[in-house]
Amino acid sequence: MYQLPDLTQPVWFFAATVIVFMVVAGRYFLAAGLFYAVFYVWYPQKWKQRKINSRNYNKHQFRKEVKWSCITALIFAVSGTLTAILWQKGYTKLYTEVADYPVWWLPVSLAIALVLHETYYYWLHRWMHHPKVFKIVHKVHHDSNITSPWTAFSFHPLEGVIQALFLPALLMVLPMHLYVLVIQLTIMTISSVINHLDIEIYPRNFYKHFVGRWLIGATHHSLHHKQFKYNYGLYFTFWDKWKRTESPLYPKLFQEKTNAEQLSPVVLPEVEECDATTAQ
Ligand SMILES: [Zn+2]
Ligand SMILES: [Zn+2]
Repeated sequence: MYQLPDLTQPVWFFAATVIVFMVVAGRYFLAAGLFYAVFYVWYPQKWKQRKINSRNYNKHQFRKEVKWSCITALIFAVSGTLTAILWQKGYTKLYTEVADYPVWWLPVSLAIALVLHETYYYWLHRWMHHPKVFKIVHKVHHDSNITSPWTAFSFHPLEGVIQALFLPALLMVLPMHLYVLVIQLTIMTISSVINHLDIEIYPRNFYKHFVGRWLIGATHHSLHHKQFKYNYGLYFTFWDKWKRTESPLYPKLFQEKTNAEQLSPVVLPEVEECDATTAQ
């Protein structure tokens, strides 16, 4: 194990939290900033047809999203330091020597972690759309009716805390190499930015490709922010397909956004406050 100072000492706890915050927030600003620059500042014309919603963003939307995302990063940072303490005390199965487990375990543990995270988030997300829970926990995220790269971590602090519980719980049961964990966190950030981009970047017909049909992208998640009662997934579509919560508009909207020929446009619903939740 790497030699870390005793993180239960307040000064080290604070220092570690500041460092983890800078990493988490830095990764958010880097990923969201890069996608925003490429797709919205440098080449917006090139991606115009693939923009899912044509309406302009609300004034101050990005500022609010960045503010909530920074609060989420802080929550993730505290959770990261608490997880490191669990690690120091020997409660997690996080490891740093590749030789501790077979090499094939590196990709397999990553795949298991992603599938378990997907499962946790899918069911948590459906619960968060329960009318009573929605208003308190999840509404902040849906304030971004038209999403942007900056929406990636825009959550109410309560949602941030519930999301942050997953990793320490996972690490207590699943042996993961430290670098695999870093890769999973990076995938989480980049996929969240892609899914909230509101510009479809995947190739034509990817929604029915044998790999693409299992991956969530901007069109898929944009429909969640418009329709609320479909497309609850995080990285993958398998839960939505299995539980029949995938939007029926998805194939047509994906085709419309990625086909060179002009198809008759899919009419996206305008969201009203009363539509915001779905009784289950
Ligand atoms: Zn939602
Ligand atoms: Zn979202």
